[in-house]
Amino acid sequence: MLRTAILATTALAALPAFAGEVNVYSYRQPELIQPLIDGFQEATGHTANVVYIDKGITERLVAEGERSPADLIFTVDISRLAEAKEAGVTQPVESETLETNIPENMRDADNHWFGLTTRGRVIYASKERVGEGEVTTYEDLADPEWAGRICTRSGTHVYTIGLISAMIEHNGVEATRDWLEGVKANLAKAPEGNDRAQVKSIWAGECDVSIGNTYYMGAMLKDPEQAEWANAVRIEFPTFEDGSGTHVNISGVAMVEGASNEAEALAFMEYLSSPEAQQTYAEVVNEYPVAPDTPPSDLVAGWGEITADDTPLTDIASHRAEALKLVEEVDFDAGS
Ligand code: FE
Repeated sequence: MLRTAILATTALAALPAFAGEVNVYSYRQPELIQPLIDGFQEATGHTANVVYIDKGITERLVAEGERSPADLIFTVDISRLAEAKEAGVTQPVESETLETNIPENMRDADNHWFGLTTRGRVIYASKERVGEGEVTTYEDLADPEWAGRICTRSGTHVYTIGLISAMIEHNGVEATRDWLEGVKANLAKAPEGNDRAQVKSIWAGECDVSIGNTYYMGAMLKDPEQAEWANAVRIEFPTFEDGSGTHVNISGVAMVEGASNEAEALAFMEYLSSPEAQQTYAEVVNEYPVAPDTPPSDLVAGWGEITADDTPLTDIASHRAEALKLVEEVDFDAGS
């Protein structure tokens, strides 16, 4: 009875006749997602329930199996999206809207995952000790000119694996091994800490350049202590020597295999690919919208122009295992 009454009221209010729910497992903090949940509710009448999970979404879905309440996963990095697909916890989604809004190289060839925002893996360079244009390619980082001047996080981290996989895609395994050895020889210290810790090291004078994701500039600027680190550096957008643009990775979404709220889940995915949501999402996370016609925020645009490598991310992700093997072979994390 109650349900009928609510539906009648809803219809009167000219909202969609059926207001459903979608359950999301997310690596992203709920505060970041909230404006999108609000926008989705306004546009469709559906509610999105987001559970924040800081690691192991795939393992959790495998463990929960059919009992899982999750309809969608929000995660970052192509490695994790590819991993979820390989573990069989996602399902393909056919949608003209998604295919129109999201460039082909930013989604899975079998439609299991879709990129929503991109982040560049770039160089943070000391404003004091590195001249503009001194580092223009990733290959440059292996040049002896940088001996003792580079800081980076672990070679086994997914962000590093993504970059090394891209290097393999462009230059092959052998050249990438040489490159990795060259970069290792140039390290100021053994890889340790996250992307921001490397920028702190530049600020502290321990190294002159580091490798990091673009959005950390935004994150550091918001933090009173870290803003000082951020202000000690500028972003350089390296390309590959073969002319390919800056290595980018994605945050993305995938529908869970066996999702109980498929229609609402699809509606949320489509909403997230809309120009309105793209702009909101990219702005709150300081990333780039995947939709080519949606501009980044003024803050992000102010860091300089990015020309992204347009190699399909699936091709890059296919080298993950080779990349990890190289990191182990050259013992990258031992430092120079
Ligand atoms: Fe990150």
